[in-house]
Amino acid sequence: MERLLRCRRFEEEGTVKIFFDPDIPAELQEEIKNIVTEQIQGPCPACGCEEIYVSLLDNTLDVKCYDCGESFFEMELEVEEQQTA
Ligand SMILES: [Zn+2]
Repeated sequence: MERLLRCRRFEEEGTVKIFFDPDIPAELQEEIKNIVTEQIQGPCPACGCEEIYVSLLDNTLDVKCYDCGESFFEMELEVEEQQTA
């Protein structure tokens, strides 16, 4: 029953729900969200969960399933070098 409700909510919104690592700056989250929703069109193929977790390790963003941890893809985070003249 719960699964059914969640699936329906997913169809209505037409997008996955994305959670971000607290270390990811807020200004990047919107951009990442756009990329993730372009790449991931549906629930996790492994468990059916439609919630995504984006973790940040060094400069690599790991986009994975929030429930089972299945990794969808990774992205390199470009860090702009600060001018410290
Ligand atoms: Zn999953």
